[in-house]
Amino acid sequence: MIFTAPWIIPVSSPPLKNAWVQLKGDSITALGTGTPPTHSPEETIDFPNAALMPGLINAHAHIEFSGTSHPQNSFAAWARSVQNAQQNKSKTDLENAWQQNCQQLLKTGSTSVVNHCNATPENINSIHPRLFQIAEIVGSSATTATQTYQYACEQQLHRSRQPNSPFESFNISPTSLYAVAPLVLEQFFKNRSPHQLLSIHVKESREEHELFNHGTGPLSQLVKDRGGLMWLKDPIGWLAEHEGLTEKTLIIHGNYLNETDQNLLKQSQASVVHCPGSHQYFKHEPFPLAELLSEDINICLGTDSLASNTELSMLQEIRWLIARYPEISYPQALELATINGAQALGVAEQRGQLKATFDADIIAIPLSDPNDWHSAVEATEVFMNCVAGKILYSTPQIATR
Ligand SMILES: [Zn+2]
Repeated sequence: MIFTAPWIIPVSSPPLKNAWVQLKGDSITALGTGTPPTHSPEETIDFPNAALMPGLINAHAHIEFSGTSHPQNSFAAWARSVQNAQQNKSKTDLENAWQQNCQQLLKTGSTSVVNHCNATPENINSIHPRLFQIAEIVGSSATTATQTYQYACEQQLHRSRQPNSPFESFNISPTSLYAVAPLVLEQFFKNRSPHQLLSIHVKESREEHELFNHGTGPLSQLVKDRGGLMWLKDPIGWLAEHEGLTEKTLIIHGNYLNETDQNLLKQSQASVVHCPGSHQYFKHEPFPLAELLSEDINICLGTDSLASNTELSMLQEIRWLIARYPEISYPQALELATINGAQALGVAEQRGQLKATFDADIIAIPLSDPNDWHSAVEATEVFMNCVAGKILYSTPQIATR
């Protein structure tokens, strides 16, 4: 199979004009400019108004959530509202949310997604991007935390034995440190291998900052209402002491990191996942993007969920990032959404770039001006989303020769 387009953006190297990419099975075999290698016409797809680029890596989502009708002025009120809404959902509601949201993820260019989940549906019938599933431990009381931990372990075992599992990987993580009973956290970190993916919400909101620093505020009240204790002051330091900071750790949000936190993240090569849409929804303090990048901390991007965002669109997150941080160029934003995401997931040698031998995770993005590849930034949907050499989404505009 060959794809041709006026532009190919490998991300790791300069864009190629009038270019082609050749794939065989699930991998890229070659790419170049000019006339493509001889190939049977029915196996060539031309994209005359598009740029081809590596699939976007969405480093944080909750596919099962839907609807943004939750309070946004208080994080604790939002969390209560989201939990109530989820508890009232039927099995069919959850399966429908999965189906619709996976379709939206593909339409907007995500080829890999780190998905946090409380109750993974048994059957995932919908077509979906690569899923790095994270079963959450959640519960301020020891009883609830133990139940969710046990459920997550059972799910992990079940999925590991399942033939043709829909998940590329299935790992367990506490949703956050403040929302899980300390005994269960200790147990989890004692049992786990530090080589496994850990994805955890840390220092997301002002209310969390108040909880850790003073043990007061609405989020602190939420933890108390759920039978929990204020026991921790320094979440990043605690993770460091419990082998919870490694190159396989994703710190989700990290909006209120101090200098000591930043040093620990740098030393451990952990990644931070910035979610521009969700950040705006809660009107957090500005994210210290330039500061973290200058410290060589790996920053990747995520959509978070529809409970705090209007779309699960990495194209939109990239646009918002550039709009809010003029010091970030479009090519840099693409790196965050591709190469950096691949590094965070431990797949930097296979994904995040268009390169021979890499996985054929490729998207075709419409260009408003075919002479200018930067015009891809305006696109709200892709023409095509190809994962492991299989086209999982395409618009009618694409035509085989
Ligand atoms: Zn989240």
